Amino acid sequence: MSISIFSAFDGGNIEVVDASQAQHIRLNIRPDAGERHFQWFYYQVCDAAGLDLVMTIENAGKTSFAEAFKDYQAVASHDHVHWFRVPTQFDGQKLVIEHTPEADIVYYAFFEPYGHARHMALLAEAGASDAVSIESLCATPDGHAHSLITATESTLDDPTVIWITARQHPGEPMAEWWIEGFLDRLLDASDPVSRQLLSRCVFYIVPNMCIDGSIRGHLRCNATGANLNREWAEPSPERSPEVFYVREKMVETGIDIALDIHGDEALPYNFFAGAEGTASWDEKKQADFDRLKNILADLSPDFQTEFGYEIDPPNSSDLRKCTDYLSETFDCLAVTLEMPFKDAANSPVPDTGWDGMRSAQFGRAMVDALWAYIR
Ligand code: ZN
Repeated sequence: MSISIFSAFDGGNIEVVDASQAQHIRLNIRPDAGERHFQWFYYQVCDAAGLDLVMTIENAGKTSFAEAFKDYQAVASHDHVHWFRVPTQFDGQKLVIEHTPEADIVYYAFFEPYGHARHMALLAEAGASDAVSIESLCATPDGHAHSLITATESTLDDPTVIWITARQHPGEPMAEWWIEGFLDRLLDASDPVSRQLLSRCVFYIVPNMCIDGSIRGHLRCNATGANLNREWAEPSPERSPEVFYVREKMVETGIDIALDIHGDEALPYNFFAGAEGTASWDEKKQADFDRLKNILADLSPDFQTEFGYEIDPPNSSDLRKCTDYLSETFDCLAVTLEMPFKDAANSPVPDTGWDGMRSAQFGRAMVDALWAYIR
């Protein structure tokens, strides 16, 4: 029987160049719409149980963050539930994944996927809470619902308004795993911290900013080829409705705290990035940013404050980016949270690396951090 490779499913992405020999499988990653970005891969190999597979992604060296493949291990799963790391090598050009599947069907991916069925189940589960209402802000270019979760039990005249956006970059599924953990904790009626938060705050949560890109198997872009985290200054209803209608809603609600949840391809750490380059950055904004960062570091051993991006110099902001735009426009605390594709090097779990469940646990920790921050 010959090996077959498929990716025509939710989130799938691979092009098969040649799969005729188990030890010389040649693959390419398909570019996002717009052709500028690619790095997300996710595919199924059939009829290869017991075979020593050597799978080479030949265009890995041309991907958006190719250097990030250094010290990276791909993930695999036989049951589509439990994902583990497999030996992977990168020589600057080609990514070579070696694995001997134990079952007739095996999956490989850049990171543990978060599929659309799970997204819909997440909305349904959240919607079952008395604290929650869900609205569709628009239809995405591919015709999916762009969903906003509102969660509150507050009767205050001036509750703290907290916006959380995740997965502007669709190939960063850890962001939606994070949301799942955050919501699970926030909507747990037996949790006293969550009840306090809901009584004092209104949460606006977009669990997946880029549904179309997620389903299409993109890394960075929506269906029109827009990188949504470069659309905040001038979003358009045609090119980037996902940002346009969220931004419109934000004008209605105002913002006190904004969290934008991402994954970083290169750095093996969980870290914050702030809006230090914005014109209005001042001591108060720095102090607020540092306070939330330090609270989270105290609460979650998976988080750390030593490693991250270089801090933007003053007046170097890019208002096309969510965090810079929101900090400047709404005079609020705005934070980008990055999680690794690899592992959290300060708290490693080598068999799985950073994964969906760890992302969800980290999301739960943010409930405690926000409570400590606002009280
Ligand atoms: Zn991102």
